[in-house]
Amino acid sequence: MTAPSPTPTLPTAPRGFHVLAKPSGPICNLDCSYCFFLSKEALYPGDRFRMSEDVLNTYIQQMLESQLGPEVTIAWQGGEPTLMGVAFFRRALELVEQHRRPHQTVHHTIQTNGTLLTDEWCELFRQNAFLVGISIDGPRALHDAYRVDKKGGPTFDKVIAGLNLLVKHEVEWNILCTVHAENQDCALDVYRFFRDELGAHHIQLIPIVERDNDTGFQQGNAVTERSVDPEAWGRFLIAVFDEWLRKDVGTVFIQMFDAALASWHGVPPALCIFNETCGSALALEHNGDLYSCDHFVEPDYLIGNIMTTQMVELVASPRQREFGDAKRDSLPRYCRECVVRFACHGECPKNRFTVTPDGEEGLNYLCAGYMNFFKHIDAPMRMMSAALRRGGFADEVMTMLATAPRNELCPCGSGRKAKYCHAN
Ligand code: SF4
Ligand code: SF4
Repeated sequence: MTAPSPTPTLPTAPRGFHVLAKPSGPICNLDCSYCFFLSKEALYPGDRFRMSEDVLNTYIQQMLESQLGPEVTIAWQGGEPTLMGVAFFRRALELVEQHRRPHQTVHHTIQTNGTLLTDEWCELFRQNAFLVGISIDGPRALHDAYRVDKKGGPTFDKVIAGLNLLVKHEVEWNILCTVHAENQDCALDVYRFFRDELGAHHIQLIPIVERDNDTGFQQGNAVTERSVDPEAWGRFLIAVFDEWLRKDVGTVFIQMFDAALASWHGVPPALCIFNETCGSALALEHNGDLYSCDHFVEPDYLIGNIMTTQMVELVASPRQREFGDAKRDSLPRYCRECVVRFACHGECPKNRFTVTPDGEEGLNYLCAGYMNFFKHIDAPMRMMSAALRRGGFADEVMTMLATAPRNELCPCGSGRKAKYCHAN
């Protein structure tokens, strides 16, 4: 295959966009019960699922050429990307240096289950300042409920061994925790385990909403029993938020709370699910196929292949822009009139398969949880935003709450007297 000619500049292209590259496609050494990627093997029957040197070179070159800003992130995901071996990533780093323009700073991230990490991996990560996302669902029993190996066996010890290696080599890491039927009612156990036992400072919480169908695609409106319950999702977020608000603002960073604060502060959150539109976070398969989003690696959302069409042309294409705009344009009236729409925006379109109370289609399955969560955090978010506007820091909220007059209503909005709530 011949690579396309140099990257054009297109007026409709975004200044920057994000690509999750899957060098080993959906192939993984584990068999997590809820994984939506394992079923994607069927998209490429008989394939070896290894990104070739040609595709790797084209991807790196186009990615660096098409980003107009000075900061570029090269993000690897899977399946399990470490199955590609260390040599593949060394080559990727060489290609980055080859194609990087002088003004560009390149950040490297990788999402891994951690079970295959070695000293060699960790040295590579540290030397090249990788940010490593490690998937852990909580303490042993909660983690092992669904995150199992190919024989159905537990993986907790191997993941923790991988994390310990990252810590030993002083690699920057964060936690990606999925919330599902097994851990949805254990928010504080999960959060305190990450904070107190693992020493986590950055945490991503991802709700598992797994469609129950035979296609493996985002179709139908039934969910598996592993999926998180909408109300429980809200309770989980609220419980973690309340603990974080008491003790951890400014020391533990929870991506969802940062995104919410951005919304309360009037700036676009750095999390596509809470933006008004999307379409700037795409997924690249091992063979150069580019899909609209990591959650829509399905034939209907294949927008082209970077070996025949420049990536930036695909990102700027009317089809991809329609995909992103549909997030806003397909919102049901119930969402359009919702008091927390500014923060929620109907969350991710992949989860919009239920009906509103008045029967309109397209409501997010997780709506009840988000509604409760966003209403619950309103007062503290306003306080944090006000602190930022004054030139202060968000963590001042903890002092403001702790020193509130004890016999007055707590400013957190709970409706309880401060002495029974946040006041010392
Ligand atoms: S479909 Fe969902 S995950 Fe994908 S870019 Fe849009 S909001 Fe983000
Ligand atoms: S909370 Fe529910 S109604 Fe409000 S914007 Fe989100 S999904 Fe829509």
